Amino acid sequence: MDCEQFRRSSRAGSIARSRSAERELLEIHLGECSACRALSEDFGQQDQQLRLAFAARREQVTSLAERIKGQLAARGARKCSLLLG
Ligand SMILES: [Zn+2]
Repeated sequence: MDCEQFRRSSRAGSIARSRSAERELLEIHLGECSACRALSEDFGQQDQQLRLAFAARREQVTSLAERIKGQLAARGARKCSLLLG
């Protein structure tokens, strides 16, 4: 694997998400090439920042989903009691 291939592969997805055979090649190249190692650390940091930014948002979305689910369950329960009564 050369630098060009490495860059193409690591841009397509982070090394952690790559298939194991490809990941092995990426890691071998990383071990040999300090330029790509620096590049990969940059990618890793970007990835982590995106995850952190998304984690806060995901919490909001999850709590909204829980609230809606609760409302639907309450409505469903009422409907049931009407049918039974
Ligand atoms: Zn390289």
